[in-house]
Amino acid sequence: MQTTLESPVIEKKVEKTEAGNYFVSNYPPFSFWTPEQVPFVERVLHGQAPSRVPLGVYFHIPFCRKRCHFCYFKVYTDKNAGEIKAYIDAGMREMERLTAKPYLNGRKAHFVYFGGGTPSYLSVPQLKDLTDRMKALVPWDEAEEVAFEAEPGTLNETKLTGIREVGVTRLSLGVENFDDHILESNGRAHRSAEIGKAYNFARSLGFEHINIDLIAGMMNETEANWKVCVAKAIDMQPDAVTIYQMEVPFNTTIYQQMKAEGKVTAPVADWQIKRDWVSYAFDEFQKAGYTVTSAYTVVKNPKRIKFVYRDSLWDGADLLSCGVASFGHLGGVHYQNQADVGPYMQAVDSGKLPIFRAYQTTHEDRFVREFILKLKLGRSDWAPYIKKYGEDPRKHFGPQLDYLAKEGFAKLDDAGVSLTRTGLLQVDRLLHDFFLPQHRQYARYT
Ligand code: SF4
Repeated sequence: MQTTLESPVIEKKVEKTEAGNYFVSNYPPFSFWTPEQVPFVERVLHGQAPSRVPLGVYFHIPFCRKRCHFCYFKVYTDKNAGEIKAYIDAGMREMERLTAKPYLNGRKAHFVYFGGGTPSYLSVPQLKDLTDRMKALVPWDEAEEVAFEAEPGTLNETKLTGIREVGVTRLSLGVENFDDHILESNGRAHRSAEIGKAYNFARSLGFEHINIDLIAGMMNETEANWKVCVAKAIDMQPDAVTIYQMEVPFNTTIYQQMKAEGKVTAPVADWQIKRDWVSYAFDEFQKAGYTVTSAYTVVKNPKRIKFVYRDSLWDGADLLSCGVASFGHLGGVHYQNQADVGPYMQAVDSGKLPIFRAYQTTHEDRFVREFILKLKLGRSDWAPYIKKYGEDPRKHFGPQLDYLAKEGFAKLDDAGVSLTRTGLLQVDRLLHDFFLPQHRQYARYT
């Protein structure tokens, strides 16, 4: 299993923001998931339920009020209440079919996640209908976390009360920026006044964990504005803040505009500037008592505030995922549903599972996946991998780890590896070199 590294991708210096994805959200890369491997999911579903693997449930809501210019998801901004109901009905038929299979039947949810799109786009009756039906299929009464993504402009007191009443424990607010001009010029639907209003009322409802998302380096962002954003976020005192560095994937409105104008460089800050801004935010949050817990997160009280969804998935939990374009993982097999509502609904209507592509992971894939994803937390010890996989990361990733140490991106010790701040801020770019050689040909971090 030893890998070699003859010409590290990481030698390439990229400072300008060009089009493409650098963010590593799963492994192996999606480009290796194929329709031919879908039968592996079916085989898992017919097998026995595992006794010790936690189960998460994900439901995807692909609706938004408008499309952000940096968005690369397939979202729908024109669906009426009847179409939304039909979508929820299809999603619940899909979940019903899956939970009837031996592998899932009778299991309870360890965590639940509503992502999108904009889950808070749903009305309270739609949300109640959806969650009642989900709970009947996979009970949530023992769930450690029920997470829900929300766009501030879709929230009022009734909506937030409804979200709390269906059992959401972790509310994630897509704030992104506090400046109206920046929000508007990046195509966001909400405005700054809606942020504080939604946040304050949500706080009064007693959600266990309120997170706000920020993006460093949106179009028209300046250093002065970023500092104001950080100060405002600290004033709010959320339980956690997630900070992304702006990237410009190919299927975004920004990229279309770049292409039309023949531009290679995206109209957003350079990578080094974005890293500096995130580093500044980390420093300011630390001064305010927060702890940096990953490449993207600061947390007010790490003992109390957990990221159950993220940590369970990185640990290899099962994820029963339903809805258009959603990604799941069952018994070592990754899968993704049809990415467009039309084919998705047709598949469900015709009694089939709407899975479009899948990937059967190997033991080695799972080891690499867990190691690289957990490196995003900034620290990884060797011992858990030796125990769980019989693999010592020092042997498997010798050249990669030496490179990180030599360049000042990490410090190695007898027990494990710790990323330096410099390494942490560009961890996604660095992770591509930890991919197995057969997966590295698609490595790209521009
Ligand atoms: S709110 Fe999120 S999912 Fe919807 S368009 Fe904007 S970035 Fe995309």
